[in-house]
Amino acid sequence: MTKAMPIPATLINMTEEIPGIVTLSLKLEADAPFECHYGQFNMLYLFGVGEVAISIMGWKEGVLLHTVRAVGRVTQALTAIKVGQQIGLRGPFGNGWPLTEAIAKDLVFITAGLGCAPAVAAINHAITHRQNYRKIVILQGVKHRQDLLWKQQYDTWRDHHNCQVLLAASEEKKGKMHWQLGLVTELLNNADFDIDNCVVMMCGPEIMMKAAIKQLAELGVADDAYYLSMERNFQCGQGFCGHCQIGPYFVCKDGPVFHFPAIKPWFGLSGF
Ligand SMILES: Cc1cc2nc3c(=O)[nH]c(=O)nc-3n(C[C@H](O)[C@H](O)[C@H](O)COP(=O)(O)OP(=O)(O)OC[C@H]3O[C@@H](n4cnc5c(N)ncnc54)[C@H](O)[C@@H]3O)c2cc1C
Repeated sequence: MTKAMPIPATLINMTEEIPGIVTLSLKLEADAPFECHYGQFNMLYLFGVGEVAISIMGWKEGVLLHTVRAVGRVTQALTAIKVGQQIGLRGPFGNGWPLTEAIAKDLVFITAGLGCAPAVAAINHAITHRQNYRKIVILQGVKHRQDLLWKQQYDTWRDHHNCQVLLAASEEKKGKMHWQLGLVTELLNNADFDIDNCVVMMCGPEIMMKAAIKQLAELGVADDAYYLSMERNFQCGQGFCGHCQIGPYFVCKDGPVFHFPAIKPWFGLSGF
């Protein structure tokens, strides 16, 4: 696939996950080959409106799944397109989760809000290759219970694939089975994994990832266990515009997934 020029992709289905968040099923032109790693993203281009980075949530036989929250100009327009309409697509960009490096280790996914989108395909890969991994721990935080996307999938991971699934809602008044009140980081106290043999994959607001790392470090998890998917606003996806720079790195071409030791000096600093 070309990274410089968008290729046409046709909307064949749109699912409203919760109000304001939809999943687009986009069919690529018949001959367009597409291969990607879990954790990569595409640039979706709405003709005459603009282009945005959106994580690849899944893909199968020429159909790509992208889950989009309508936050601004382009995403609002993208979530209002109609089945049959064509948009432009460039990608895949960036790198992905370290699923090969994680073989024979415990996997810990910590996500918040729509941060779960880039992790879903990786979790499904781990489930499909369950024998390659030891424990799988999935922690997801939302504001309200009804904000949880793909509830059924979490239930299936818990009930049928021997995963520990812990969910937190920060703005609920009363707890319910499987739910804890509070921030996703508060779930860490109940997470069951080997601190000396784990890979921790995180995606969500940087403040959440910073708090999670601090807490895990206190438990004894070493810096080189963490991989972070970073989100920064950018224009080009090719390291030209500079909007997504973190120290010497660009989120668009060196990320979005970073091994924590590489970005540690700049992580959490404003202005970087
Ligand atoms: C690698 C990567 C993967 C992403 N994956 C997804 C995804 O799967 N689904 C999804 O819905 N969005 C995702 N995003 C975010 C998405 O690209 C932005 O929401 C989008 O660019 C907003 O464009 P807009 O024109 O709609 O909003 P704008 O009009 O540009 O901005 C609207 C508001 O959102 C804020 N904003 C815009 N972009 C960002 C950003 N990246 N981080 C923080 N605040 C921002 C602005 O400050 C403003 O307040 C991803 C971003 C990156 C970098």
